[in-house]
Amino acid sequence: MTVEFLSQPLQFVKGVGPKRAADLERVGLLTVEDLLLRFPLRYEDRAGLTPMAALRPGQTATVVGEVLSSGIRSTRRPGFRLFEVVVRDASGAVRAVFPNQAFLKDVFHPQQQVVLYGPLDYRSGGLQFTNPEYEIVRGDADDAEEAHVHTGRIVPIYEKAGSVTPRMQRSLVHQLLSALPDDLADPVPAAIHEGLELPARRDAILHSHFPPDGTSIDDLNTFRTEAQRGLIFEEFFLFQAGLVLRKRRQSQEHKPRPVVVDDRIRAAARKVLPFKLTDGQKVALREIVTDMQRPEPMHRLLQGDVGSGKTIVALLAALVAMENDFQVAFMAPTEILADQHYMTIRRLLEPSRFRVALLTGNMRAAQKRAALAEITSGTTHLVVGTHALVEDTVEFRDLGLVVIDEQHRFGVMQRATLRAKARRPDVLVMTATPIPRTLALTAFGDLDSSTIRELPPGRRPIRTIAKPESRRDEIYGLVRHELQHGRQAYVIYPLVEGSEKVDLRAATEMAETLQADVFPEYRVALLHGKMKSEEKDQVMGAFARGEVHVLAATTVVEVGVDVANATIMVVEHAERFGLSQLHQLRGRVGRGGHASTCVLVYQAPLTDQGQRRIGALTETTDGFVIAERDLEIRGPGDFFGTRQSGLPTLRVGDLVRDHVLMEEARREAITWLDEPTRAQPLVDYLSANWAQRFGLVGVG
Ligand code: ADP
Ligand code: MG
Repeated sequence: MTVEFLSQPLQFVKGVGPKRAADLERVGLLTVEDLLLRFPLRYEDRAGLTPMAALRPGQTATVVGEVLSSGIRSTRRPGFRLFEVVVRDASGAVRAVFPNQAFLKDVFHPQQQVVLYGPLDYRSGGLQFTNPEYEIVRGDADDAEEAHVHTGRIVPIYEKAGSVTPRMQRSLVHQLLSALPDDLADPVPAAIHEGLELPARRDAILHSHFPPDGTSIDDLNTFRTEAQRGLIFEEFFLFQAGLVLRKRRQSQEHKPRPVVVDDRIRAAARKVLPFKLTDGQKVALREIVTDMQRPEPMHRLLQGDVGSGKTIVALLAALVAMENDFQVAFMAPTEILADQHYMTIRRLLEPSRFRVALLTGNMRAAQKRAALAEITSGTTHLVVGTHALVEDTVEFRDLGLVVIDEQHRFGVMQRATLRAKARRPDVLVMTATPIPRTLALTAFGDLDSSTIRELPPGRRPIRTIAKPESRRDEIYGLVRHELQHGRQAYVIYPLVEGSEKVDLRAATEMAETLQADVFPEYRVALLHGKMKSEEKDQVMGAFARGEVHVLAATTVVEVGVDVANATIMVVEHAERFGLSQLHQLRGRVGRGGHASTCVLVYQAPLTDQGQRRIGALTETTDGFVIAERDLEIRGPGDFFGTRQSGLPTLRVGDLVRDHVLMEEARREAITWLDEPTRAQPLVDYLSANWAQRFGLVGVG
């Protein structure tokens, strides 16, 4: 049975044993499948090797040869010992030195066949490897067949796993591959492989580890060979198929009752609307309300750049729900943002009969109890809150719509918990940052999506400039200019995890200096996350009313804060922020009709990454472009900044490198699952394996 072959625990494979099995397990390799369905770190061409006589300094090379001599050489520096090996082939010889690794005297011995890999330079009169990777390919005991696994071909180089060296893994993989059943089950239907001209599973596995002669080493090392693409496709296809199933299951559920929209409700919506919606907002709202009128629950993602006006769209959807006698939960990631949504929503709903409440983690017990009672009785129609809303103590009378703002800060689990609070409410997820398409297909592939592309009319693009710290006077000059015209300013200070105390002190001192020395004629206030909620409200309120002119703040203002008269933002230590985070921050200005400026102040010299981030921000204000750049610079895990982000654990695929394959996989999965009879084997496979394989909640 082929399934059994792949699911064998490595511990029972010949030559592994408990010690090595434990080391392999520590890096997540438990079964034969784990070992075979992952790629080597890289590949080495040991067939077409450079003869030693042809080696050049500056080149990174692999050589194979026989150890001529080896031993410890003392140097002029006391206590510093150099292990040195000289290796030769038919054309010449080369030296390798290993500083302070005397133990190698027990590893290298004359007459062994060894492989060395690394950069070469010219030292003390000859070509030399310093600290190269090495591999003893043939000791005396090995036979010729074993040597063929490690030399004379393209070989895979695996990541060392404790005591299990790359070479041992190569032997182990080779041994397992030679026992690979001929009729290896393939979860991807043959018709799909054939259609895409990708190899079937068996060949894909074989050739991803031991590529046939003549395979391009560049293709291999960039993971672009057919075999590698075959395995990547399999991974993506299974993942996407699971998402499709999950979505189908959801769409078979029925809400207690769908909402109804009539003229009375339309009129009520018009009454709260303070401005004309943009076309993008209209389309998004129509998509949302259409979902709400359907019998199955809505699962929709609302994307739009900072300032595109997602809140009002969500609020109008909320109004429709409430007019249908449903309650609405509106979730925000931080207290400040919850406070702010609460104030905005309460103001907008004033002309309506609906009651709005706030529920956050740091409310006093009595206050909270009262708020909870009103939610349970149904006196409260709309509740705005933080994660406190997902606590067990919160019971709704009739929750019909859940709005989750700034999604990427919420875990998938929290999304699920809140959904479980009601019998299948409609769920609208809003993201603060536009999400690159591949990530959206991955983390939110089970959601429908609406996108608002444009900003409300009258917005002027924010001018963004980068300045080194040494130009501080000039920077303050820009701020003063705005203040003199009656505008307001943000000065943002980073608060980095792990050094909050120091950062907070620095931010506080900065605020004091700004007030005392730089802008004595204006009012400067400090805002940070460690302040009590009333204090925060007070400061934010004063800033919103224009009584505070300069708001010195840590990143608490990152999301959502909305003061249209603020036209300049100075970001201190801009090099310490992530790209999307800076974009979010910047979105706090440029919210009114006045031209706005963002000054990124950095500490020279910038790192390469820092330069790329700051460069991207000064070049564009398009959040979608920035999101793509951010993903390229940081990689998918960090993009969301949380493990619970709904991203799958991938073994061979890479969301940035392989995004085209992900789209293909999605298309194929959708089409294949459309026809129930042929889809059944795949459905069975996924029900059994999906959750475990991708480290996520199940497809059901
Ligand atoms: P975000 O999408 O970043 O959450 P908000 O919902 O906070 O954006 O909206 C940003 C600002 O734009 C708010 O002040 C809001 O009142 C305003 N706004 C939203 N839509 C429009 C519109 N159609 N016309 C004018 N102003 C709008
Ligand atoms: Mg918002």
